[in-house]
Amino acid sequence: MKNISLAVLFLISTKILASVETPEMSDDNGYVEPFKMFDNVYYIGDKWVSSYAVETSSGLVIIDTLDFPYGKWIPTNLKKLGLEEKPVTHIIVTHGHSDHVGGAEYLQSLYGSRVIMTEKGLELAKDQANKSSGMNKFLPPDVKSFAQDSSGIVVGGTEFKFYITPGHTEGDLSIDFMAKDNGQLYRAFVVGGHGVNFQKPGLAKKFMASMARIRRLAIESPAVTVNLSNHPHKNNLFANRDKSIRGENKNIFISRENFSRFIEQQEILAAEKIREQLESK
Ligand SMILES: [Zn+2]
Repeated sequence: MKNISLAVLFLISTKILASVETPEMSDDNGYVEPFKMFDNVYYIGDKWVSSYAVETSSGLVIIDTLDFPYGKWIPTNLKKLGLEEKPVTHIIVTHGHSDHVGGAEYLQSLYGSRVIMTEKGLELAKDQANKSSGMNKFLPPDVKSFAQDSSGIVVGGTEFKFYITPGHTEGDLSIDFMAKDNGQLYRAFVVGGHGVNFQKPGLAKKFMASMARIRRLAIESPAVTVNLSNHPHKNNLFANRDKSIRGENKNIFISRENFSRFIEQQEILAAEKIREQLESK
């Protein structure tokens, strides 16, 4: 009897452990080999959601952390890129949806990083964490100070500027910093959230206002020439990666058009949705 219950207990506990194991790094699971985009920027995300590692002189800053448990791929990706010895000093999360914040607490516990997000972003992250279950169960990160609009931080000589740009969620955090390529600096921009959300009235309006603001910010000198979208299909990331593997001389990720087209596309999609919404009333 005792043996049977021990066997059952063993089975149950291995099941629990297995449920939080690192997912297989397969194409079916959305695994993507990490790659270098700039001297100081690496793609460490998956097929559907972006995550970037920015190298500074004092360590790494990670932007977005994937869904849990897929965020567990990030340490392996850093190792593959030869970055495993670098401390991950900061984790910046664009918004509180699980596909961006899901791995934040795991990585924070592993690296002791400071997590930065907006106050409303964390509220949503807590709500999403409460609703998460099974193998995707995650905890919200510990955030000591919130990102404020038009503020920023300097990490190892790299300045990250923050803009609160609500619309996809209430707490979208957009970021800009300088990417380096062959000794030249290029302004990179991460839009905090795209895609309008109609579940909350008023967000669509905020979305349009945020896009207009981002458009204005982007043309300030030096103009944005690097589109670091938080989903890879929004900046043609993999098509550009394939072109860059073919060895075209200029860094393919530098494109002012890519960013302005992305914002324009967002505005068009949002306007269409707003029209549909009005017509259906
Ligand atoms: Zn989202």
